[in-house]
Amino acid sequence: MAEAIKVTIWNEFRHEQSNEQVRSIYPDGIHRAIGEGLEGTFSVKYAVLDSHEHGLTEDVLNDTDVLIWWGHMAHGDVQDYIVDRVHDRVMKGMGLIVLHSAHFSKIFKKLMGTSCDLKWREAREKERIWVVNPGHPIVEGIGEYIELPEEEMYGEHFDIPQPDELVMVSWFEGGEVFRSGCCYTRGAGKVFYFRPGHETHPTYYNPDIRKVIANGIRWAAPVARSYPRYGHAVPSLEPIKDKG
Ligand code: ZN
Repeated sequence: MAEAIKVTIWNEFRHEQSNEQVRSIYPDGIHRAIGEGLEGTFSVKYAVLDSHEHGLTEDVLNDTDVLIWWGHMAHGDVQDYIVDRVHDRVMKGMGLIVLHSAHFSKIFKKLMGTSCDLKWREAREKERIWVVNPGHPIVEGIGEYIELPEEEMYGEHFDIPQPDELVMVSWFEGGEVFRSGCCYTRGAGKVFYFRPGHETHPTYYNPDIRKVIANGIRWAAPVARSYPRYGHAVPSLEPIKDKG
């Protein structure tokens, strides 16, 4: 059997500690609920904002195939040098899965180069996430749509670059739509943005949501090969005829 893909789940892990409603849904933190759906299939580690170097030391990142990122109220507390370190790893092939409110994380904005802004509303409304790319590996095992009885609304326009592949689109009870599953490549790395997962709804216990995240990990995992060489290409591979 091939070696398990190494996944690090990063979470701010502040709201769960300061807000009773959030804690009641995610008592051990959102990262642990996400990880519960992945353990046994992948090799899972956890990292949180208030750890040394936000838990994302060189050693941790070098030992990570796919990094999952959840944050919403403390994006500004993430140190820029850690963002640069994660960015460098993505360029060299580490996969990144950006969840929900991490659309405003420093790392996602740096990778996208746009504001990543959107519309939002907390009204406990129904979300129907439609699969619009049925042959894509990220939606393996998923039906026509995933329905979540209550979620926060995110609406267009979502200020992202045109996705390389658009896999899912959400419809909300209040009328808005949103590009919910977006795939990019940046350097040698793959980036998957997946929308659902507001902290006051039990979304990360939903089996289909867990399946999409697991599929996303497999899709985003690095390809085993050497990093490309850049720069002065001398000597040439083949002899070049003297043009003098
Ligand atoms: Zn939210």
